[in-house]
Amino acid sequence: MHSPQTLLKNVFGYDAFRPLQQEIIERTLAGKDSFVLMPTGGGKSMCFQIPALCFQGITIVVSPLISLMKDQVQALQANGIKADFFNSTISPEEENAVINRAMNGEIKLLYLSPEKLITVSDTWLKTLNIKLVAIDEAHCVSMWGHDFRPEYTQLKYFRKSLPNVPFMALTATADKSARADIENQLGLQNAKLFISSFDRKNLSIDVRGQVPKKQKLEEIGRFIDRKKNESGIIYCLSRKNTEEVAKFLKAHGHSVAFYHAGMDAELRERVQTDFINDDTKIIVATIAFGMGIDKSNVRWVIHYNLPKNLEGYYQEIGRAGRDGLPSETRLYYNMRDFVLYSQFADDGANSAMQKDKLNRMLQFAEAKSCRRKILLSYFGEHLTQDCGNCDVCDNPPKDFDGTILAQKALSGIARMQEKEGITMLINVLRGSNNAEIHEAGYTQLKTYGVGKDVSFYNWRDYIIQLANQGLIEIMYSEGSALKISPLGWKVLKGERHIKLTFPVAPEEKKDRKQKVLKLATEGEINTDLFTELKKLRYTISREENMPAYIIFNDKTLKAMATEMPVTENEFLAISGVGMNKMQQYGEDFMEMIRKFKSVAKPKKVPTTLETFALYQEGLSPHEIAAKRNIQVTTVYSHLSQLYTEGKAVDLEKMVDAATLNKIRDAFNELGRDIKLKPIYEKLEETVSYGEIRMGLTIILKNE
Ligand code: ADP
Ligand code: ZN
Repeated sequence: MHSPQTLLKNVFGYDAFRPLQQEIIERTLAGKDSFVLMPTGGGKSMCFQIPALCFQGITIVVSPLISLMKDQVQALQANGIKADFFNSTISPEEENAVINRAMNGEIKLLYLSPEKLITVSDTWLKTLNIKLVAIDEAHCVSMWGHDFRPEYTQLKYFRKSLPNVPFMALTATADKSARADIENQLGLQNAKLFISSFDRKNLSIDVRGQVPKKQKLEEIGRFIDRKKNESGIIYCLSRKNTEEVAKFLKAHGHSVAFYHAGMDAELRERVQTDFINDDTKIIVATIAFGMGIDKSNVRWVIHYNLPKNLEGYYQEIGRAGRDGLPSETRLYYNMRDFVLYSQFADDGANSAMQKDKLNRMLQFAEAKSCRRKILLSYFGEHLTQDCGNCDVCDNPPKDFDGTILAQKALSGIARMQEKEGITMLINVLRGSNNAEIHEAGYTQLKTYGVGKDVSFYNWRDYIIQLANQGLIEIMYSEGSALKISPLGWKVLKGERHIKLTFPVAPEEKKDRKQKVLKLATEGEINTDLFTELKKLRYTISREENMPAYIIFNDKTLKAMATEMPVTENEFLAISGVGMNKMQQYGEDFMEMIRKFKSVAKPKKVPTTLETFALYQEGLSPHEIAAKRNIQVTTVYSHLSQLYTEGKAVDLEKMVDAATLNKIRDAFNELGRDIKLKPIYEKLEETVSYGEIRMGLTIILKNE
């Protein structure tokens, strides 16, 4: 039997386990149950795939994501692993074939949907030599989760029928209370809990609030322009929005499609497949999109609206950068989203809990401290340092004593009898001259115009800060009228002081782009070769009818473009290349790399710089000419050019003073025309072209 480490390298092509993988594998090989909590893209599958290869027998993988099964099985097969799946999408003939292979011991991993498992668990499945059961998306068994699947509750009986087989539950989302529930529901025995860090360092986080629609679309357009040919997802609240945004982007020439639950299944399937296969670069979707997607090269995710809760948000941004390469995420939100969701929550089940989660979401969006810290602490993980890869870290807020500003706003609210909303308040504070204000008689208020010196944008930011600090309440049920809280009254009366932070306008957030861009190009990759390799991968994926990333993911292709392997050994050393893929595709990719190497000569050093290098070594112009096999006049012209460029070339030394004077006289007499030939002739061919060129250079430079 091969060791897990050898299998990792030979089969999957990876050099080292990620944190916890090895421990989980060892525990499983020892026949014990485990509960694996890792973020999306964290490498959960490896935890049961390697034991499956070690065991003499079959591993059953239960997953509710039918659309994903085929890809997962293809990915395993591409690595030479005998895997199959069994769900409602396959024909009776295929079904029989799979059963036969399973009974003949020809399958190492069998993926099943829970429905199928229930129907077959008492028939042929019972006769198999089952060595391990992995339950993916295990949170689906919990009624508390957002994804409850009744069939999952039946898994308990399956567990009972296999008391001596190790079970592994895997999920990316489960808070503490859900964990215990899952363990119970599945009937795990002494399961050890493995929680890996949920920090996805490669994802940058950017949040932008209160951006008007037109500006939002423009910003998104610019964002995508920077990301030519990269895959991304835009999540919208409504179906209508998805279509609108997609239309806007299409009109700007982007490769884009929309996706929502109102489309028929066939069309949805096609949109999804095109995205997975890189035929469509951008998907604008409701959150219905993504569950069945395991695409490793999604480079960015934008939320067009505020998500309902942090679980959903983190899962959605987590679809970016599964390959570990730097990826960008951006969240847009405004109060309208929040109000809308609050109303939804009122009507739905678990209303109080949903509202609570929504509030946490809003707090995150409006936070003025490191976003990743907030996000991870919500999931029970506490970072000791700020992340340096979020918009707040990039533009840390500076605070100041905001008591007087707060008092101005609060007194404005009080004087308008707590009847007006944020826009009216700001207009009054800024002394605007509009009809509404006159009609209401607000120009007579003491607070009219006391906040002239603060921009509209900044006032809005401050007032939202006041709301966040609990001084003001926004009454959504009363046309968003502002009310003063007991704490607010204290501040107004001068009994309390408060701090505010300086607003950061979205335009000032531009800095982070450069940073991220730099990250993305880290480790000199040859982009031309990378593009060629991607094309080759695409061609093969068409021929073999499978998603491109299954052949090699972007990270592996980038490594190829950087390392340029041309022998089998070099090729195998690339992360993500196992034996099977080496045999299947190695030659095609290496041939491309060889071709590329032979065409792309080592980067040409400009000819003047070659001359300069020899000159610096102390060679004379004649020696340089001989060495470089060029005319000595050419060397002189190089030296002249270098001299004008400011390089350390001592031209004066090469033309003696007498000759320089002759050249100057001729040049002047000829009307200072910068032509070599007339001067050459005037000096009766006694001075070489090269010297004349150098002389002129010196004369002109020193004037
Ligand atoms: P999850 O199921 O947790 O969302 P996956 O199992 O799909 O994540 O793994 C995400 C990616 O990480 C896959 O491309 C996988 O091949 C890769 N991966 C897993 N383990 C390792 C490892 N030890 N080294 C390098 N890559 C790994
Ligand atoms: Zn941060």
